[in-house]
Amino acid sequence: MARVKLENVVKAYGDVEVLHGIDLDINAGEFMVFVGPSGCGKSTLLRLIAGLEDISSGSMTFDGEMVNTLSPSQRGIAMVFQSYALYPHMTVFENMAFGLSLAKAGKDEIDRKVRDAAEILQITPYLERLPKELSGGQRQRVAIGRAITRDPRVFLFDEPLSNLDAALRGQTRIEIANLHSRMAGSTMIYVTHDQVEAMTLADRIVVLRDGRIEQVGTPMELYTQPANVFVAQFIGAPSMNIVPATVTAGEGMSQVAPNGGSGAIPVPLAGGAQDRVSLGVRPEDLTLAAEGEAVFSGPVSHVEQLGEVVLAYLDIGQADTPLIAKLPGTSRIERGQVIHLSADPSASHVFDAKGAAIPRAA
Ligand code: ADP
Ligand code: MG
Repeated sequence: MARVKLENVVKAYGDVEVLHGIDLDINAGEFMVFVGPSGCGKSTLLRLIAGLEDISSGSMTFDGEMVNTLSPSQRGIAMVFQSYALYPHMTVFENMAFGLSLAKAGKDEIDRKVRDAAEILQITPYLERLPKELSGGQRQRVAIGRAITRDPRVFLFDEPLSNLDAALRGQTRIEIANLHSRMAGSTMIYVTHDQVEAMTLADRIVVLRDGRIEQVGTPMELYTQPANVFVAQFIGAPSMNIVPATVTAGEGMSQVAPNGGSGAIPVPLAGGAQDRVSLGVRPEDLTLAAEGEAVFSGPVSHVEQLGEVVLAYLDIGQADTPLIAKLPGTSRIERGQVIHLSADPSASHVFDAKGAAIPRAA
């Protein structure tokens, strides 16, 4: 296990800069997830840490040792890709042993390490099979097993579950979480575009956008205290509602009124009155209310009954953007019906005109 530290890391391909100065400190033994939309630079950042690509400027250390110019094997990393990248003509055992053979490990050591990894991943019965005789989920476990046998200082995963169907994805996600706790102390860096994987696996999450870090924090920090509108809408599903609003200052408490809404929410904000702000409320923080207590009122334009919950889409007069409320599945909501919603003040967020969160007064 290693502490991985990046300082002002820049990556450019020719004239095109794709990572614009990344500062990041990953603790030894931490499970760190990089999340962000496609093209934001997650894989590039992972490949820089792996040593598969050179950084253009900045510094990178593992446990204080500069690794900028070291090859992947000198860095002691192992990487698992979305495409399993197994050798088709080799058995599972041979695939898992390949790196060890290259490193000239002894036969007994290879045998022990491959069998230990196979046990951890429950693929012992398949050791003599070829990759084509395995399911997608089993193949991905072989690829993970191959990484384990190398005893890496840092495990790197690049969207390892993307090729699996939904059920298998859920199951393999749990296995990866178990793997991290079983391999106590191994540093893992995991790339995904899926915020559910990020939330469920990470000790901490790095949210990336256009080659920059938007926020780093624990899953609950990102959920409860998003630094800006982008993070607020990326974490959580359906996304946080963002509504244009106006803030009026009161005694120790501001009133945040959504434009065109039917009421205001008291929030203790730093700073005084402001217009052109946005109010952010998650669908799960809206509740049905009496008309007089409502912050939002409007006709229901669409209903999605999911059983446990019902998603009500409310037309609040904002162009194409309905307000989404996640209500108990037993709520009787029909399209066309006018409903009234109140918002939990403690779970309400306010963002300035640039999208940055306005902090709460201490
Ligand atoms: P992500 O993994 O988040 O989807 P990538 O790290 O693969 O994103 O890509 C980030 C950006 O870098 C993209 O705009 C992509 O086109 C660009 N990029 C990646 N690899 C190369 C390359 N070898 N040459 C030029 N541009 C690249
Ligand atoms: Mg990628």
